[in-house]
Amino acid sequence: MDPPARSPGVIEGRDTAPLATPLERLPGVGTARAERLARLGLVTVRDALLHFPRDYRDFSGAHAVDSLRPGEHASLAGEVLDVASRTTAVGRALVVVTIGCTAGGRVRAVWFGMPFLARRFTVGTRIVIAGQPREVGGGWEFAHPEVRWLGADEVADGCDWLPVYPLAEGVLQSHVRLAVEAAVRHAADAWPEALPEAVLREKSLLPIGEALRQMHRPASAPLIAAARRRFVYQELLMLQLALRMHRRRQREERSATPLVIDHRLDGRIRARFPFPFTPAQDRVCREIAADLARAEPMNRLVQGDVGSGKTAIAVYAMLAAVGTTVQPPQGDAATRPGERPERHQAALMAPTELLARQHAATLERLLAGSGVRVALLVGGQAASRRERTLARIASGEADIVVGTQALVRGSARFRRLALVVIDEQHRFGVLQRAILQHGQADPHTLVMTATPIPRTIAHAVYGDLDVSVLDEGPPGRQPVATYRVGPAEVDRWWGFVRRKLSAGRRGYVVVPAVEDTRGAVASIASAYEELANGPLEAFRLGLLHGRLSAKAKAAVMEDFRSGRLDVLVSTSVIEVGIDVPEATIMTILDAERFGLAQLHQLRGRVARGGLQGICGAVTGGVDEPHPRIDAFVATTDGFELAERDFALRGPGDLVGTRQSGAPPLYLADLVHDMDVVAEARRDAIDMFDRDPGLADPALERLRRVIIDRWGPTLGLGRVG
Ligand code: ADP
Ligand code: MG
Repeated sequence: MDPPARSPGVIEGRDTAPLATPLERLPGVGTARAERLARLGLVTVRDALLHFPRDYRDFSGAHAVDSLRPGEHASLAGEVLDVASRTTAVGRALVVVTIGCTAGGRVRAVWFGMPFLARRFTVGTRIVIAGQPREVGGGWEFAHPEVRWLGADEVADGCDWLPVYPLAEGVLQSHVRLAVEAAVRHAADAWPEALPEAVLREKSLLPIGEALRQMHRPASAPLIAAARRRFVYQELLMLQLALRMHRRRQREERSATPLVIDHRLDGRIRARFPFPFTPAQDRVCREIAADLARAEPMNRLVQGDVGSGKTAIAVYAMLAAVGTTVQPPQGDAATRPGERPERHQAALMAPTELLARQHAATLERLLAGSGVRVALLVGGQAASRRERTLARIASGEADIVVGTQALVRGSARFRRLALVVIDEQHRFGVLQRAILQHGQADPHTLVMTATPIPRTIAHAVYGDLDVSVLDEGPPGRQPVATYRVGPAEVDRWWGFVRRKLSAGRRGYVVVPAVEDTRGAVASIASAYEELANGPLEAFRLGLLHGRLSAKAKAAVMEDFRSGRLDVLVSTSVIEVGIDVPEATIMTILDAERFGLAQLHQLRGRVARGGLQGICGAVTGGVDEPHPRIDAFVATTDGFELAERDFALRGPGDLVGTRQSGAPPLYLADLVHDMDVVAEARRDAIDMFDRDPGLADPALERLRRVIIDRWGPTLGLGRVG
């Protein structure tokens, strides 16, 4: 599926002839260059037209000599006054062209090692040059500028903006430009328009042929923007429509077991918790209950900041599943007296083994004496034990299965799986999730994440999910007091930590994991020693990192949880989900090495109980501003941090289309094109509401392009 993956969704499956023309047949390209262009994936005219520039260079020739600045891109138009060719003292060929600028003054253009260039300039020719000038001996000089030769009557502003294309090794910018230019001339107008006339008009979008021309040979900066806008809009509109088509299909074709939570069951579940639910938890549970009662699979994302109480939501949903018994098929005898009615099963998947174990322990505690049977499925278990667990899952003897995602997803065969809860979804791509659901019997799905995704972006990528927001934490929670600790304050900080520990608090020291040459985790071992022989000498320290065996990890966690240890020195393995309410003080060493989302997750470990959490981010000199650390210290609002994080580094993996192997968005940038994201979403909703099958003949082409582009990912079926 290579072509769809590269395409911004402007194609049809079957190309019209001019688009399928091999590049080597175009004038000026030839076999040798075509072979090189193939390294960039450019084989046909269509490929070349879709090879969009990554940037543009001003080639207007509008600069005057007195507006030049050293090193700043400029472009001048003028007439060749002199061409000189000589050899430098070290034996290199040097071509010097003197240009009399139209706007007055003169500049020199120089080329080293390209003697043949001298022949291309004749005195009196008009040219435009573009590049970065420098001052040499009182005059201005452009080394290796780009040149455009103007015909006798061609004006300097014939093509003001020069496209800069992505390249591959051994492929020259000029070759790509030439090939694309030839492709534009050959076939830009042969490209079938996918957007209906009415949409183009209403949205003032450039028609496809014009948009392609302006992308590659733009006449002005506003036209570049207009061309780009057309493609970005189209791409986002198609994604939104695809997600809606996917969802509609799911609704039509998928059925799930309706799980109806009556008043009694609701009360029984709540009675299991040592606390009343917060109003936010109540609201989200109601939303989930409404979904579960339907015969179509729930598809819901719960977003709640670190510590907002998502586990309780997961447990509520799972107990709802397990608590509604399976109806015997029509005609079968009802359950005989004394025989236990068959229960539905639920699975809870966690990203790490530590978290899976913690969840299992929480469930065991909450469900003690209830008759609900919890099974744990993680990698560190002995094979025989795992076999037994798998058998219990298959026979329906295990009601709730907790495990790491890989295990639960890979090897478990359930008897009556009615609900899947995926904790800490942020590590997984949404599109990947869609792929996994496709083609399988459908349980209800609940996805939980603490990584807040700005709403517009959530809509762009989670368009097919319902979103619940846990916007309020348990009562009495105070924001974690966060400090940046520079080298000068470190001693005072440890003094402070010691006082807290002496007063009975527990704490974490988080160290970035850095492996030494043998692959051992060096940084944490030495940090542990330094702490144990230095500032934290008087306390009981434990050591936790990813290289420990599962058993050792679990033992250390248990010692810390139960209070046999005062301090856990750890890598970021504790980042996700770990919940020890008595631990209230955290020190993050080398804090600059962590990402913002990660820092926030880490800090969440000490925002658990009713006690004030405190976090010190130990960094280099505090005088040097550090945008990430400064943002981290400035706010504990996960949503605000996420927005800042997006602004600092873009959505990256968070959005997850990249790592999931699904086709990425091609041109659209979810951060910078946020307003188009919102617009495309609104329009897609409108369009879909009016015509859910996109059956209008005016939409025929658009529908086919969408299926071509997103069908393989979202299981939308083949082009009809
Ligand atoms: P997260 O949303 O990060 O997964 P958890 O579910 O681990 O958060 O909950 C954080 C802490 O808050 C836990 O110790 C949990 O027992 C506690 N908690 C959750 N809900 C409530 C509530 N309604 N009242 C009091 N404490 C709660
Ligand atoms: Mg959690």
